[in-house]
Amino acid sequence: MHFDPPQLINLVQYPTKTSTWISKEMPEAAAGQLPFFRMVTNVLQPMRLWDDERTIVQVEFQEMPPASEEEEPSLIQAVRDHYRCPKGFLDFRLSDELSAEPGYFQFGPGTTCYGRTLKGTLQAQPDFPLSDTLPSVLFDGAQLVLPFDPNEVIENLRLERYPSSRMGRREKALKDIYYRLRPLTNRSMRKGIQRLRAVNWETKRFPKWPVDTTVENVCENLLLLSLQASGLDRIPFVWFWPDGARGCFSMTHDVEATAGRNFCAQLLDIDGSFGIKASYQIVPEGSYPVGPEFLSQIWDRGNEVCVQDLNHDGRLFDEREEFRRRAASINRYGRDYGAKGFRSAVLYRNPEWFADLDFSFDMSMPNVAHLDPQRGGCCTVMPYFIGEMLELPLTTIQDYSLFHVLNEHSIDLWRTQVELILAKNGLASFVVHPDYIIAPETRAVYRDLLVMLSELRALEAVWFALPHEIDSWWRARSRMSIVRDYGSWRVVGEGSEHAVLAFAKVVDGKIVYERSEGRKVKDNSGRRNER
Ligand SMILES: [Zn+2]
Repeated sequence: MHFDPPQLINLVQYPTKTSTWISKEMPEAAAGQLPFFRMVTNVLQPMRLWDDERTIVQVEFQEMPPASEEEEPSLIQAVRDHYRCPKGFLDFRLSDELSAEPGYFQFGPGTTCYGRTLKGTLQAQPDFPLSDTLPSVLFDGAQLVLPFDPNEVIENLRLERYPSSRMGRREKALKDIYYRLRPLTNRSMRKGIQRLRAVNWETKRFPKWPVDTTVENVCENLLLLSLQASGLDRIPFVWFWPDGARGCFSMTHDVEATAGRNFCAQLLDIDGSFGIKASYQIVPEGSYPVGPEFLSQIWDRGNEVCVQDLNHDGRLFDEREEFRRRAASINRYGRDYGAKGFRSAVLYRNPEWFADLDFSFDMSMPNVAHLDPQRGGCCTVMPYFIGEMLELPLTTIQDYSLFHVLNEHSIDLWRTQVELILAKNGLASFVVHPDYIIAPETRAVYRDLLVMLSELRALEAVWFALPHEIDSWWRARSRMSIVRDYGSWRVVGEGSEHAVLAFAKVVDGKIVYERSEGRKVKDNSGRRNER
C-alpha cells in the first residue's frame, strides 16, 4: 500500500536517546511500510523537546523510490531548481486529461505557455484569446494536480520549442538570399532591409515585448498555489544573487569589424571611468586580426574575453555537419583565448546543438527577439542550464536595433526593460558594439546608459558582474541546498558564504520575496550600500 495522496498523520513523539519516532495513530499496514516512506518534517515550526515532554506533531509521509533506482526527474524539478527550496514544499501530480499534441494556453492572465495541457483548451497560434488553465489546478491535500507538466512547458520556452520561434521555408530562403547579396550592399541598404523585416513587430503578442518573464511567472504561480494548498505561510529558498543583491547587471561588447576593434582601447577607458567591467566577444576568423596584445589589453584590465561565432557569416547554424566542423575550431579558439563563454553572430542559435560547444556558458539566447533576424525568445530573465552549458540570456535590446531599426537615440527603452527585469530580480544583460558607438551621437547614448546603471547599482545594490562570475555563482547556487537545524533554516554547500536565505510569501494574493539577512553588496567604487 502507499499513501496516495500523502496524508497527514498525528504522531506522538517520545523523545528518547535514539530519537525514534513512535507511531500512535498510524495504520498498522502503513507502519510496516515505514522504510519506504520519507518523513517530511521540515514543514514544522521550530521546536525543541525536553526529556519529560510529550508533544503531538504532524508529520507528512511521502512515498520513496527504492534506494537502488536512479532518482527520476520529477514534476517539481524545474521549479525547485529555480528556487533551490528544500524538498517537501513542492508536490505536483499531473492531471491525466492531457492532450496528445502541444499548443498555446495561458497559466494565469497574460502568461502564455506552450505545451500539452487539458484536452480542448489548446490554440495553434499565440495571437488568439487563449484559455486559462490556472483555474483548473486542483488541490489534493497539499498536492497540486496540474493541467500541464511544468518541466516540459518551461523547457519549451527556454529552448524556444514553440512554432512561432521557428524560421519558415520562405524566411530561410530570404535569409539565404540576404547573405549571398550582403557583400554587394552598403550599410544604409542593410538598415533598410532590416527595417522592412521588422515591420509589424509591435503586433506580436508572444513573447511579450519589451521583456518576457513567463518562466518566472509560471514558477511564481506554482509557488503561490503550493502555499495555498499546504496552508503554510512561507517557503524558504536560496536567494537568486550573492550577498542578497536585488538583481544583476552584465555589460558585453561584441566586436564586429576593424573600426570596433580599434575603438576597444577607448571603450575600456569609458567603462573604467564608471567602474564597470565588461566582456568582449571576439570573432576569431573575422575581418580583423586578433593578436595576443589585443586580448591581453582586455584581460589585464580585469575585463573578460569570450568567443563570438567563428567568421561571423551568419551561417553558423545553417547545416548540422558544418556546425560540428566549425564548433571544433571555435572550441580551439576558446582554449587559446582562455575564454569560458560563447556568443554566436547576430544571435543565430540552435540550443539543441549547443552540446558541441565546449564552453562553460553561452550568451546567444535573447529574451524576446522581435527585432532580431531570428525571432523567438527564451521568456526568462534568469540564467538556466542547457545540458552542461549555462545560458546567460540577453535580456535587453541590442544597441544596433535601438539605433538603426527603431531609430531611437535615448535610453528610455533600456530603462523600461531594466525596471521590468529588476521587478523580477533578474539579470539585465546588455550588448553594446564598439563599432556602433564610435559616432558622438550614439556614444552619448551609451554614456547615458552607464550613468543610469551606476545610479541603480548604488541605489538598489545590484550586482554588476562579468559573465564568468555569473556563471560561477549560478553553478555554485545550483548545488546549494537548504537544511534545517535547531529550528532555523540554513543554506549549505560550496560558496554558500555568499548565499542569502529568502522566503516566498503570499501578500494580497501575490508572491513576494523576503530576504532574511541585511547583507550588503559590494560596489565597485569601494563604498558599501544598504540593500
Ligand atoms: Zn556580431
